[in-house]
Amino acid sequence: MDFSTALINWYQQNKRDLPWRNTQNAYHIWLSEIILQQTRVAQGMPYYYKFVNRFANINSFAEASEDEILNLWQGLGYYSRGRNMLKTAIAIKNNFGGVFPTAYSDLVSLIGIGEYTAAAISSFATNEVRAVVDGNVYRVLARFYGIDTPINSTNGKKEFQNLANTLIVIQQPALFNQAIMEFGALVCKPKNPTCNLCPLNINCWAYQQNKISQLPVKLKKLKIKERYLYFFVVNNGSHIIMKRRDNTDIWAGLYDFPSIETPTLQTIGEVFASQQFNLWFNANTEISKISGPVKHLLTHQKIYAHFIEVSQFKTNSIKNNNWISVPINQLENFAQPKLIFAYLKNYLNSIKY
Ligand code: SF4
Repeated sequence: MDFSTALINWYQQNKRDLPWRNTQNAYHIWLSEIILQQTRVAQGMPYYYKFVNRFANINSFAEASEDEILNLWQGLGYYSRGRNMLKTAIAIKNNFGGVFPTAYSDLVSLIGIGEYTAAAISSFATNEVRAVVDGNVYRVLARFYGIDTPINSTNGKKEFQNLANTLIVIQQPALFNQAIMEFGALVCKPKNPTCNLCPLNINCWAYQQNKISQLPVKLKKLKIKERYLYFFVVNNGSHIIMKRRDNTDIWAGLYDFPSIETPTLQTIGEVFASQQFNLWFNANTEISKISGPVKHLLTHQKIYAHFIEVSQFKTNSIKNNNWISVPINQLENFAQPKLIFAYLKNYLNSIKY
């Protein structure tokens, strides 16, 4: 039995019953594909239902505010996905008459839809013959065929895409794509693949050569940048000061606290002596609690966060810096990065308001 047929046979007996597999609705498939980027199925599933229930179609999605999208997205990370979805929805409303496109060539023209996602939507929605190559597919192909070209190199991307194009079953492209991705997720896993039960093991290069842990090959990542942030938490009893982050940095469009960033780790005394601190605070400002550093990892950044609870700002600070005084019982309407959300959860449990 050849590689593709064996995969499809395995899939038909072992596939998980996932909601986005029982539809050819391109809007629903798009939602699931974007949500599941960098996200496990169990974590993404409630978000999928949240979006499907809140927005019946791409037109109602396009009418949402960015704040609402980010709020629904809260906790999933990689918030640019949510912002790009809104841009895509608006583009579909304006340029495609509100009808979600299904042709690969149309899909790749949209923001946030790369080659993989376009191939997935076009093949799942209309059986267009487009081979998907995601992390699961790279792993299965690298191991089975013994390919050591780095999967994140230009040559590697081309080589794996070309191979997938030759393997896809022309009569059943959606089924083949689902099968190879599911096989990578459930059998040929990154760690501890179940090779002894694998229907492909007799012909698998990595299994036969005992080189499973060495494939796929990936080029080393960029250096992680370290950042030091000192957040100021001001609570007047019923309100907390928040600020909306601009679009030029991490957490664009989300809400956090006023903060000072320093190039290296500083003592709290050094932060209090800074020009910025004295611009914002009165000399008699009381500091009630300091916590941190809390380490928080992003894709290419490591954040060291301190949280400093203070009694008040200078009166003109809010106006001069576009900060917002948010009623505590409305904080949930202001989407926050995971780090801030986790801090606020503990903080609000510890105070009476
Ligand atoms: S034998 Fe192991 S490494 Fe090879 S395809 Fe099967 S699960 Fe993957």
